[in-house]
Amino acid sequence: MSVLYSASVIRTRVRELGEAIARDYAGREPILIGLLKGGVMFLADLFRAVQGHLRIDFMSISPYGPEGTGVVRIMKDLDLDIMGQDVIVVEDIVDTGLTLSYLLSVLQARQPASVEVCALLDKSVRRIAPLEIRYRGFDCPDQFVVGYGLDYGQRYRNLPFILSIPNPAALADDPGLLLPYLDRVGRT
Ligand code: 5GP
Repeated sequence: MSVLYSASVIRTRVRELGEAIARDYAGREPILIGLLKGGVMFLADLFRAVQGHLRIDFMSISPYGPEGTGVVRIMKDLDLDIMGQDVIVVEDIVDTGLTLSYLLSVLQARQPASVEVCALLDKSVRRIAPLEIRYRGFDCPDQFVVGYGLDYGQRYRNLPFILSIPNPAALADDPGLLLPYLDRVGRT
């Protein structure tokens, strides 16, 4: 396994994304929508990198219906009414794009003024559902990744960097597998 994106590389990119959002939404007050749980760390950093007024809200979704459709059940809905508002959906990673494209259709039905996507990682080679990602952190290789909000079996979300895991199934057999590696590379 290896560090794909270090904490400082992530920090720099998140700052750039925040500056781009502040520039594009100058004079407006967009709502950043974070998706629980993976997008929380990214949202928290991105939020602080935007100079200007904005609001945040959260949604929690879980897969529902036949595999490959992207249909999700909303476990926690937004508190804010997004009708007539500028919305930016903040995602940790977009893979096939099925989940996000379904979610975008749900949000569009609420008649926001605009909806854009900000994704830290874009596994563009795996895309099935066409999707426009207005703000993209990194074009991510087709590898399984953990850290900076992303989990394997709810673990590793708290790593400040993003690791590429060549054989994620090995983690199921030995959940502590990464620990010696993490001790060696340190956590910053
Ligand atoms: P999609 O519908 O785009 O295929 O699914 C996106 C979701 O799959 C992400 O929100 C994330 O939960 C999960 N996912 C996709 N690739 C990875 C990965 O490399 N690592 C982790 N931890 N989750 C992933």
